[in-house]
Amino acid sequence: MESFQFDNLSIILNKQGSREFAKASYPIRYGRFAEIKTPDYIFQFNLNGEVKYIQGRRESWPHPAEWLKRTVANDWVYYSAGTYSEVYDYFGEYYLPCLSYPSNSIMGGNPFDDNAVRSALQAWEELLTEMRALPSGTISQGLKDFLILATGNDTKALQLRSQAFHNLIGGELSVLPPDTRHVDYEVIPIFVADGCLYNCGFCRVKTGEDFSPRTQKNVFDQINKLKEFYAQDLSNYNAIFLGQHDALGVSPELLEFTAKKAYERFEFDRSNLKGAHLFLFGSVDSLLKSEDTLFELLNDLPFLTYINIGLESADPATLAMLKKPITIEIVTKAFVRMLEVNRRYEKIEVTANFLLGGDLPSTHLPCCLDLIRNRLDHFYSKGAIYFSPLMNGRSKSREANRGVLKRFSEVKTLSRLPTFLYLIQRL
Ligand code: SF4
Repeated sequence: MESFQFDNLSIILNKQGSREFAKASYPIRYGRFAEIKTPDYIFQFNLNGEVKYIQGRRESWPHPAEWLKRTVANDWVYYSAGTYSEVYDYFGEYYLPCLSYPSNSIMGGNPFDDNAVRSALQAWEELLTEMRALPSGTISQGLKDFLILATGNDTKALQLRSQAFHNLIGGELSVLPPDTRHVDYEVIPIFVADGCLYNCGFCRVKTGEDFSPRTQKNVFDQINKLKEFYAQDLSNYNAIFLGQHDALGVSPELLEFTAKKAYERFEFDRSNLKGAHLFLFGSVDSLLKSEDTLFELLNDLPFLTYINIGLESADPATLAMLKKPITIEIVTKAFVRMLEVNRRYEKIEVTANFLLGGDLPSTHLPCCLDLIRNRLDHFYSKGAIYFSPLMNGRSKSREANRGVLKRFSEVKTLSRLPTFLYLIQRL
């Protein structure tokens, strides 16, 4: 770690954050990063010199323990503390990520309307100008290198990086699995398949394409290009997401190849973060066709694996309304299989999604409860259930949202599995 002081700027290079993801009611930074403190803000940069976090230090900042984070796709996300206990109860996390683009959140306002938050983004651009004006003659090589990197990563450059990132994986990533909250959504995405099996009527994140696995060659190309793209900052990652909507549907060979190659090429054994995580989505059909040999294979990988299955409902009337072409018989079978995998394989957690919304048939939630309460004899801590608010592009009134949250809380209380809200985040 090296520190420097220039008038109002305190600069620290190679600062060490936490080596493990944690759930805490105070700001935590992970891995290694550079930090610049001014009287008004704390700016933190990843190892490629790209701004990643901004936190206000003045009274005008909405909350002293809240911050802005920029994703690799160049989206700003505001981490709101809300009421810690309420946010934790709904999401299983102490912070509510408020997104700068439309999603399915039914809580929190829009911090991007707040002048203090908008000023922080402006202040980062002004900081770049200040950094460019620092004397270059007398400073260390390490600081010179950092300043060159950081000042080169202005708004335009970061936009171009985001485009390059999407070109490289072959498309935009419309949704991350809810389980990626365990690593604060810090995943490297690798697409192993495009499209999905059902192309459900209600779904806003689908590509509309039929399910189609990629080849090993395509996957290996992505991994190599991603390694180049993440460059110095790769050492701050220890998690991958296998996209897009049904990675569990590809062959066991492709899953194993991707996981092993990614672990090896991304050098996760030398990451600044401990452990390794693998996330993917699956469908009821792909879960039911997955044999024990696949789960044994996944369980033997050097990853903790989370598989998220979209069940959506266990009620025929709701499935019909959603235009999801599956039956409650296979939803029930998939749920039973999920419980079985969770009990049998220590390093795998299968989780499931249901929808939540005031416009769904009144039979929807009782049918969900029939699975997540009546089929279990006591509470199990493994196998989270996520309820995803169904927005369908219509913004609901506060009162309607309160009603939906109330119903969610009732279901959560009765559920015999950990139950949370699912906030859809893109990358
Ligand atoms: S809910 Fe899942 S399976 Fe249905 S369209 Fe969306 S991504 Fe595809």
